[in-house]
Amino acid sequence: MITADSHLHTSFSADSKTAPRDQILSAVSAGLSHMTFTDHYDPDFPEGDLDFTFDIDTYFHTLAELKEEFAGKIDIGIGIELGAQPHIPGMLNELASGYPFDFVINSTHLVKRIDPYDTRIYFRDRTEKEGLRLYFEEVLANLNVFEDYDSAGHIDYAFRYLPSHSRDYAPYPEYGDVLDEILKTVIDKGKCLEINTAGLKAGLTFAHPHPEILKRYRELGGELITTGSDAHNPAQIGKYFDVTGDLLTNLGFRYYAVFRNRKPVFLPL
Ligand SMILES: [Zn+2]
Ligand SMILES: [Zn+2]
Repeated sequence: MITADSHLHTSFSADSKTAPRDQILSAVSAGLSHMTFTDHYDPDFPEGDLDFTFDIDTYFHTLAELKEEFAGKIDIGIGIELGAQPHIPGMLNELASGYPFDFVINSTHLVKRIDPYDTRIYFRDRTEKEGLRLYFEEVLANLNVFEDYDSAGHIDYAFRYLPSHSRDYAPYPEYGDVLDEILKTVIDKGKCLEINTAGLKAGLTFAHPHPEILKRYRELGGELITTGSDAHNPAQIGKYFDVTGDLLTNLGFRYYAVFRNRKPVFLPL
């Protein structure tokens, strides 16, 4: 059973209006044992878009107080979801090592400075297959240039935004070469692969990444995973953890990790 939500947002993220306390109250009432805040920080985001940065000192101050207040009720971690881009490894490394985070997610939100979320722009001059392949290539680049992370976030995120609104896809064999490189990179570097249930929230038939990718990860020797809802409001905390836990055990996963002080604590599935 999954009882830890290691990917969730609050009003420190430009795309959430939820107070941190409300996320905690929701996690406690959902019966979670652990939760880790991972607000968005995307350095060098294109001008004109939302500002996905925040004051990290205020973030720590706010969350440290809440952590103390809720001690004994839920184990709270302070993490960050860093939006990686291959040309800014220095900025990413400075952020990851410059603060006492419990947990760092390496997420790809931009490809050549465009968010696939902006479907009409991202897929304007490329087919869906080209767009997905390019996204995977960018994920691979980011996992290699920025190495001070704990888990590789939502590695097939771009699939949510296909112009056809497809709900499912076949990762293999079409993208097998680049996906294998991503999975081997995660395994070789001793990192975790994130299971992100926001895919189901977005109406897809799967949580990120696709079950075929998870199966392949196991085949290649991958065992380390983290679990998160990517909640942007209280109703989304811990969402779809029941079906996702069943899927993971069926695929042969036996435990998942929660990070504290950048070190994994393993919990049984
Ligand atoms: Zn993300
Ligand atoms: Zn997120």
